[in-house]
Amino acid sequence: MKFQIAIDGPSGAGKSTVAKALAARLGIVYVDTGALYRTVGYYVRSRGVDPHNAQEVEALLPQIRLELRYENGVQQVYLNGEAMGDRIRTPEMSMYASAVSAIPAVRNFLLDTQRSIAKANSVVMDGRDIGTVILPNADVKIYLTASDECRAMRRYEELKAKGIDTDYESVLADMLERDRNDSNRAVAPAVAAPDAIVFDNSGMQPDECIAGLMTVISKLIRV
Ligand code: C5P
Repeated sequence: MKFQIAIDGPSGAGKSTVAKALAARLGIVYVDTGALYRTVGYYVRSRGVDPHNAQEVEALLPQIRLELRYENGVQQVYLNGEAMGDRIRTPEMSMYASAVSAIPAVRNFLLDTQRSIAKANSVVMDGRDIGTVILPNADVKIYLTASDECRAMRRYEELKAKGIDTDYESVLADMLERDRNDSNRAVAPAVAAPDAIVFDNSGMQPDECIAGLMTVISKLIRV
């Protein structure tokens, strides 16, 4: 039997680390939906288009062919046949992703890709609107969150480890701006689904959070 686990929450809450680990333990597919928005942002940037200009961004969508492939168990997004890798992980691409994600045509454009992968496989899917819009009937809905400082520190460490030059204060400021954009947009705002389990992992190590969520999941589905 197929099942769906939706993990939503603000940036830096540890969604991808946790979702990846849960998928590996359960032997199911991990889908990182933020990577899709980042890839659209990347294309928009490469064409020199303002990511806030809905009309111009929408006009670019027919030129974009996105594919999700799994290479050694790791999700890779292909844009018109080219692997994106870490190019979509920079702070600039986070901002581009957040800007294009407020455009309804972009959200629509990515809807089928997300739903069809969840139809064909059991998934742990992370994002901002998985439990509210993409998979409203998911078997388990988790809203993962943590304090602002905790989330910003994690993001900062993650960027530093990737060799991206930045400082804590600007990571915190960028993150709060992105949270504001994501939760105030008119379409699919980043909010917890009414039936989601809110899990605050401030101060927790990943293992502790993963174990806590495994307990939650095993109460809801037979794994
Ligand atoms: O999760 P990640 O930080 O990679 O997401 C980048 C941006 O993509 C988010 O700030 C948000 O604006 C957008 N996003 C979204 N809906 C999703 C996943 C990501 O709007 N399901």
